[in-house]
Amino acid sequence: MDASHDLAKLTWPDVAALLARPGGCAAILPVGATEAHGPHLPLDTDVTIALGTARRAAAEMQRRGRACVVLPPIAYSVAQYAAGFAGTISLRPETAVALLADTLLAAARAGLSPLAVANAHLEPAHIETIKQAVDRARAGGADVRFPDVTRRALAQRLTEEFRSGSCHAGRYEGSLVLADDPAAVKDDVRRGLPAVPISLVDAMRAGRTDFRAAGGEQAYFGAPAEASAEEGQQTFAILAALLVEAMESAGL
Ligand SMILES: [Zn+2]
Repeated sequence: MDASHDLAKLTWPDVAALLARPGGCAAILPVGATEAHGPHLPLDTDVTIALGTARRAAAEMQRRGRACVVLPPIAYSVAQYAAGFAGTISLRPETAVALLADTLLAAARAGLSPLAVANAHLEPAHIETIKQAVDRARAGGADVRFPDVTRRALAQRLTEEFRSGSCHAGRYEGSLVLADDPAAVKDDVRRGLPAVPISLVDAMRAGRTDFRAAGGEQAYFGAPAEASAEEGQQTFAILAALLVEAMESAGL
């Protein structure tokens, strides 16, 4: 994985040089969660996915001659559906909005533009905090792009399991973690897990407010045993392309 665009590993003169380039320097903010992802995937699954997407998109921007850095990821967010499972850390929505908005505004003040949000945590209440934070940052003058994969037009470009709504810690997310952080996957456990073909999207619409009530006794949905690193690489390429398209569009 190409981590050469990680802002946190650069020095300030490195960043000053990027900002001085014609067209300036874009930045991507990876956003994930610290929450239960079945008995087989790590709690930082969404952070791994957001970071892997952001790094690939930054590398593609570089290939197109555009300077682009990856900001340190946000690992805390609203994660109420998994709150009943050990290890999940869920913020209050107002804290999450403030953290996201202030980070975006500070990045804009630092001269980074446009900014893009690479989000991998799909809980509706969390998506809402991003929308509010993006609105607040835009009101403060920041040029922020947010390709929301839960929107139908973008979701249609992703895998069948993702589109089915049965997309938490199953084949879709399992494949992405196998691609970028295989050592963190309990693969013997993963291979033995029966599929839970329940649409989380439908369960949420029916008013279920946590994974157990939605039918996910072990905090996973979909088919973890069907995951593969190959599918993960393919999905990462699509996610990165969506992000690059958002950064290359006309913007505000
Ligand atoms: Zn996830």
